[in-house]
Amino acid sequence: MYRNYIAGQWVTALSGEVFSSINPANGEIIGEVPKSGRADVERAVAAAAEAFPRWRKVPAPKRGEILYRVARKLEENKERLSQLLTREMGKVIAEARGDVQEAIDMAYFMAGEGRRLLGYTAPVELPNKFGMALRDPVGVVGVITPWNFPIAIPSWKIFPALIAGNTVVFKPASDTPILGIEFVKVFEEAGLPPGVLNIVTGPGSAVGEALITHPAVKVISFTGSTEAGRRVSELAAPGLKKVSLELGGKNAIIVMDDADLDLALDGIVWSAFGTTGQRCTACSRLIVQKGIHKTLVDRLVARVEKLRLGDGLLPTTDVGPVINRRALENIHQYVQIGVQECARLLTGGRIALEGELAKGYFYVPTVFDEVRPEMRIAQEEIFGPVLSVIEVNDLEEAIEVNNATAYGLSSSIFTENVNAAFKAIRDLSTGIVYINAGTIGAEIQFPFGGTRGTGNGHREAGQAALEVFTEWKSVYVDYSGRLQRAQIDTDTLVQI
Ligand code: NAD
Repeated sequence: MYRNYIAGQWVTALSGEVFSSINPANGEIIGEVPKSGRADVERAVAAAAEAFPRWRKVPAPKRGEILYRVARKLEENKERLSQLLTREMGKVIAEARGDVQEAIDMAYFMAGEGRRLLGYTAPVELPNKFGMALRDPVGVVGVITPWNFPIAIPSWKIFPALIAGNTVVFKPASDTPILGIEFVKVFEEAGLPPGVLNIVTGPGSAVGEALITHPAVKVISFTGSTEAGRRVSELAAPGLKKVSLELGGKNAIIVMDDADLDLALDGIVWSAFGTTGQRCTACSRLIVQKGIHKTLVDRLVARVEKLRLGDGLLPTTDVGPVINRRALENIHQYVQIGVQECARLLTGGRIALEGELAKGYFYVPTVFDEVRPEMRIAQEEIFGPVLSVIEVNDLEEAIEVNNATAYGLSSSIFTENVNAAFKAIRDLSTGIVYINAGTIGAEIQFPFGGTRGTGNGHREAGQAALEVFTEWKSVYVDYSGRLQRAQIDTDTLVQI
């Protein structure tokens, strides 16, 4: 049985209740974890609040040394964690290794921040006075994460929070709690002091909400659906908390008539059906210029029909299961909506029930053609292996269609025309833009996040991540020995 980690101790939920984590490929029970509640959150927040004054005073390069150790331990455990990740979340093993690798990359990057955490100095307007801006940690951070990147997404939040001197209470998604616990174990093994990182597993409605509303929690870093994000925002507002929200997406690939079609096809298949379409950056709309529409769609359907569904641990599998039965039903419901909206179903459109697949949650990769931009399947996040093809006349229309959704995470264009590429860079209104690559493949040293309903203006990863986890402190040192009044003593002359 797995346990919560609070104040450096592995403990059960105070209620003693547990819930099971299940392999979505075959229903196997992987383990039981605490079904925690408000009282467990209270304990964890108290531990994090108690550890904060000490942790913030540990010199940042020393905090970085612990993170370097975490990075090395993640490397040592990469294969074990990746295998477990495929079992608990379902993505194919190569992608599971990528998930863990992203955390390793983030660990090294943020460990390095221990010797930067750059502030700045600037000239001041009065003589014999010095000014500088420093980064201060904020306090206890509540980290709430989804199941689709069970190691990578927690790493985007926990590493920058810790290097900046904050302490953390982490609530992983209820579909992947064991990976959250295994991730925290690596920090323990690397020598992170007790109380600095705590984990509490359990439902969002109980554990998540208790964390968000706890007065001692100063920052909430949340990744999940837009609907839940809105609720998080409302709950955190009375406490005037810093809230960083990374939410849904409805990402598109644009393919222009002049594109390299082989390359575009590779990008489309990878972006739409990799991780079974369950990435926030997954491509769920294909915006195609009319000259190549038919050729591209014919070739795409042929490729999609060759994708092999199965357990992600098998070398023959291209596409794994979706996360749970609710997701499977939700995806199928959207397909029915697409049919009712008179989009043309070209392939897929059903739950896979052949042989071993019936034991898990598998959906046949699906492509709709003749989709209009305003249809629900072109507007709402489906979060599964369903791609909608929209035909357009030219670049201007493609960009307009791309931008006309409630989300703004990632977009991509395939073109050989440098002018079109630069117009797209200028006019695609998403947080991430790819030229001649699919909508997925972000690297951790650049800001990650989106516009409109994808978030509330914050970014994860890169140095941008530090904005969420630090407060600016401006410091003025007056060494003139007299009262100098900024903006008032304007006639102070500098003698040369
Ligand atoms: P979800 O919103 O259902 O859950 C996310 C987390 O929030 C879970 O830990 C859940 O337990 C918790 N939660 C749910 N309701 C809560 C509440 N009222 N208060 C506090 N916590 C609550 O999302 P999910 O199904 O786990 O993940 C899929 C969603 O995440 C998709 O919409 C996807 O686009 C989004 N996502 C976004 C990004 C990004 O960076 N923009 C990355 C990955 C996933």
